[in-house]
Amino acid sequence: MILTDTHTHLYSEEFSEDRDAMIQRAFDAGVTRLFVPSIDSSYTTQMYELQAQYPDNIFLMMGLHPTYVKENYKEELAHVEEQLATRKFAAVGEIGIDLFWDKTRLAEQQYAFKHQIQLAKKYKLPINIHCRDAFDAVFEVLESEKGDDLFGIFHCFTGDFDQAQKAISYNMKLGIGGVATFKNGKIDQFLADIDLKHIVLETDSPYLSPVPHRGKRNESSYTLLVAEKLSVIYGVPVEEIAEITTQNSKRVYGI
Ligand SMILES: [Zn+2]
Repeated sequence: MILTDTHTHLYSEEFSEDRDAMIQRAFDAGVTRLFVPSIDSSYTTQMYELQAQYPDNIFLMMGLHPTYVKENYKEELAHVEEQLATRKFAAVGEIGIDLFWDKTRLAEQQYAFKHQIQLAKKYKLPINIHCRDAFDAVFEVLESEKGDDLFGIFHCFTGDFDQAQKAISYNMKLGIGGVATFKNGKIDQFLADIDLKHIVLETDSPYLSPVPHRGKRNESSYTLLVAEKLSVIYGVPVEEIAEITTQNSKRVYGI
């Protein structure tokens, strides 16, 4: 059984004590494909080192995370552009809009999101979307950029059924993680009505740990717990969930 964690922050400081053991636990759980989103330039070197260490299992994205759109965002975007021009990446991400922490930089976040979508199109790459308290703003940008060359993953999807349909209409897969295992997570209530061909698995580790680890550090091996939850929701064996979602991830990332 091969599981794919389509979104995991392996370089996080949270793993500095036991990173290699944590990655080995993922492999032992069958999670052998790990896709790592970028947040800003400060982690780029560590990401490259991780990929060099695990070239068959770790695949990188490049992008500026909306929460890291600060005064220097133009320099950060130039960094993203420079890396995309010199290396091969699985996607542009994570990019998007986050109005949970700070609403004052909406215009800059929208600019950075749109600009990076255009970079993704230039390099024929998928995007990995971060959306928090910002569905309308994210959909507005996607609407302005829609087309066959726009595709990717709506990471940590937490919307309702209509928002799920809308995301899918922009060629997005839904990244499903720990939230699907939460009692008040809501998405488990309509997920069975969304065809599995639109679903990929993720952890977003070290954040959003699935039950029974909720509130504690998340790690990629827990992708298996998300797969087991989907197995219950969809009423199909966990092996089938693994097979379909891994195929879906290959279709998006091309790896
Ligand atoms: Zn993330």
